[in-house]
Amino acid sequence: MDNTATTRHRILVIGGGNGGLSIAGRLRRGGISDVAVIEPRDQHVFAPLQSHIAGGIARASEAVRPQGDVTPKGVRWIRDRATHVDPHAHAVTLSSGDVVTYEHLIITAGLETRYDGVPGLDAAMNRPSGVSSYTFELAQKASPALRDVRGGTVVFVQQPEPASAAGVAQKPMYLACDWWRSQGRLDGIRVVFVSPEPSAFSVPAISDELQRKLDEYGIETHFSSDVREVRDGSITIGRGDRSETIEYDLLHAAPPQAPPAWIADSGLADDDGFVDVDPRTLRSRTFDGVWALGDAASVDTLRSGGAIRMQAKALARNLRAVLDGQEPRRHYDGYTVCPITVSRRTVVFAEFDGHGRLAPSIPGFASLYRESRISYVFDRHILPWVYWHLIVQGRA
Ligand SMILES: Cc1cc2nc3c(=O)[nH]c(=O)nc-3n(C[C@H](O)[C@H](O)[C@H](O)COP(=O)(O)OP(=O)(O)OC[C@H]3O[C@@H](n4cnc5c(N)ncnc54)[C@H](O)[C@@H]3O)c2cc1C
Repeated sequence: MDNTATTRHRILVIGGGNGGLSIAGRLRRGGISDVAVIEPRDQHVFAPLQSHIAGGIARASEAVRPQGDVTPKGVRWIRDRATHVDPHAHAVTLSSGDVVTYEHLIITAGLETRYDGVPGLDAAMNRPSGVSSYTFELAQKASPALRDVRGGTVVFVQQPEPASAAGVAQKPMYLACDWWRSQGRLDGIRVVFVSPEPSAFSVPAISDELQRKLDEYGIETHFSSDVREVRDGSITIGRGDRSETIEYDLLHAAPPQAPPAWIADSGLADDDGFVDVDPRTLRSRTFDGVWALGDAASVDTLRSGGAIRMQAKALARNLRAVLDGQEPRRHYDGYTVCPITVSRRTVVFAEFDGHGRLAPSIPGFASLYRESRISYVFDRHILPWVYWHLIVQGRA
């Protein structure tokens, strides 16, 4: 006997992370009454704090809340996983076998971490010497591991695109260096930074600011370099046809990332596997009832939580217009932000648009991208409160 059920919602959201709750809350507050979010996890994690946990300046408990507590009031939480979308039938199949139909679907399923994307990386993360700010548990493991380093070689790896806020992989490195310096240990530690990018950041002014910190801490940099293999205690990196193996005592690695495969299997993806939307209106180029925002969407800018705030505003306006029988006219301009903590008191607040131009959100503060104390206070102490109380409630 078939025990599966079919339910219907006017607005259905896949993924109850940063993007999913932001847009669900915003639409609900805008007066749309039938909004549901499919999300399998029962704990919601505020990912930016993982960098601070790894770097020893935040407790793990600050980053987690029960999913039921953060789901906006009036939004239905479907505790399950989407496995397939049929955009012609306007139907989503769940892992339970149940089917949910919709009038409009918003996909905000984020990116998946793929530690198995580099030979040996997965196994390395299971040893005491392998840590990462990109996974909640590994960020907790990173904190005492980095704190207790007294000598030897520590390698930090930034992942290639596509990635969630790629530059933030550098945060635990600067935090650790600042700590080691304060303890008089930094000179005795070889700190190595490996990045696939040609410089510290894609925007020149921000890159210069970060390079100054790399020099200040005496960090050995390997730019334009990819990771070829990780073995027990050694990492092989390469640039073109040259490769080099570095013995390490501790490895902090941001893993390769990719959009979930069911997006492509459902016929919704661009060539890279992201939900194929117009990056300005965030509506599918092929299916009028499908929308996307956040890390899983084909937006042409650095993926970040800061970007999602602007995307949610545009998408909510456009969806509202379509429900009212109008065309979606509000455009997301590619604004994004990547706050990089460069010491235990300062942050480089990297804000820019889809063309890589500096885009400070406070008018008149053109130098916001420079290392500053005030940006640290905002990023470390104010933003978490704003996230829990305003952003995921669709108020900001
Ligand atoms: C370590 C780290 C530090 C970061 N630091 C910053 C920062 O300082 N500033 C900043 O602006 N951004 C930062 N970011 C980026 C920011 O966190 C992401 O851009 C943002 O979380 C993406 O939101 P999202 O909703 O697209 O995906 P997520 O927040 O990842 O949410 C996706 C949700 O979808 C769910 N899901 C997945 N598959 C399915 C399925 N099949 N069915 C149902 N649900 C599913 C997942 O369980 C998850 O809850 C950081 C990211 C990381 C990882």
